[in-house]
Amino acid sequence: MYTTRPAEFAYHRPSSLDEAVALLAELEDARPLAGGHSLLPAMKIRFSTPAALVDLASIPGLAGIERGGDGIRIGALATHASVATSEVVRDGCPMLAEAAALIGDRQVRNRGTIGGSVAHADPGADYPTVVKALGATITAVGKSGSREIAADDFFTGIFTTALEPGELVTSVQVPVTAGGAGAAYVKHKHPASGYAVAAVAAVVATGGGKCTRARLVIGGVTGVPADAKEAGSALEGSAVSEEAIAAASVQVAGALGGALGDTYASAAYRTHLATVLARRALRTAFDRAGS
Ligand code: FAD
Repeated sequence: MYTTRPAEFAYHRPSSLDEAVALLAELEDARPLAGGHSLLPAMKIRFSTPAALVDLASIPGLAGIERGGDGIRIGALATHASVATSEVVRDGCPMLAEAAALIGDRQVRNRGTIGGSVAHADPGADYPTVVKALGATITAVGKSGSREIAADDFFTGIFTTALEPGELVTSVQVPVTAGGAGAAYVKHKHPASGYAVAAVAAVVATGGGKCTRARLVIGGVTGVPADAKEAGSALEGSAVSEEAIAAASVQVAGALGGALGDTYASAAYRTHLATVLARRALRTAFDRAGS
């Protein structure tokens, strides 16, 4: 039977991280609740039927955004709107603010959180692509303590991550974009939801007119953000030119085996789109790097 009401569930609202971790360890089939903008729609159609929700909203200290050294730590409960408008993020890691501003609509940005987005690992979501391209680190805490997980190892499949059952994301750390480096995120969004039909995050560094580092991560096309390593390597060591950018963008398709297709966009269309967006993202990233 089709329904728009969730199945019955118990609701808990812990006031500390320790209490939340203990509840998630003790309770049968419990799920954390953050902004609710992915979990609640899934519960309403009974795609997800957790027996208990552990609401993180009253846990202090999980929504802060702070700069320390050459990195920025973003608390798991920081909303997309707060990331998009944070001066710390806009100054230190503009691509992340740019991506946050492109998420969904105003309501989604005001409620949805970075921790919820990375934990949910939707293939069409924006943060997974961007945090992987940036080489971010995700901090998680569970009953065995706290650990750091590289974004490269975090996204393991469609809606699947390296988090253990009961583990909570507490923060996401991104590096500050250094001088001589540039980054850009370009997305072709689904007109109804804003999710990525295809998206590209490009992070480059230059010196003496040459590309010294290039990383391209593609979202929305495959189950996990795809690292187009060969396209990045093709640019490294070569002079920055339109020809080099065009050639590397075409190579992106090679990293998109197992592309997803649906009624809105076929796998072939998404793959083609990724090559077009890669070219735009690279051009902007090199411009920002000063080349
Ligand atoms: P919730 O919905 O509360 O939780 C999502 C999942 O993560 C659940 O399984 C939950 O148990 C788990 N979880 C939550 N927090 C934690 C944590 N700290 N540690 C461990 N697990 C946790 N996203 C985009 O990226 N781009 C878009 O364009 C976009 N468009 C959208 C449009 C609409 C209409 C809607 C409803 C959503 C859209 N989203 C989009 C998704 C949105 O960004 C969600 O906010 C986000 O995916 C989940 O964050 P949340 O805080 O709402 O998490």
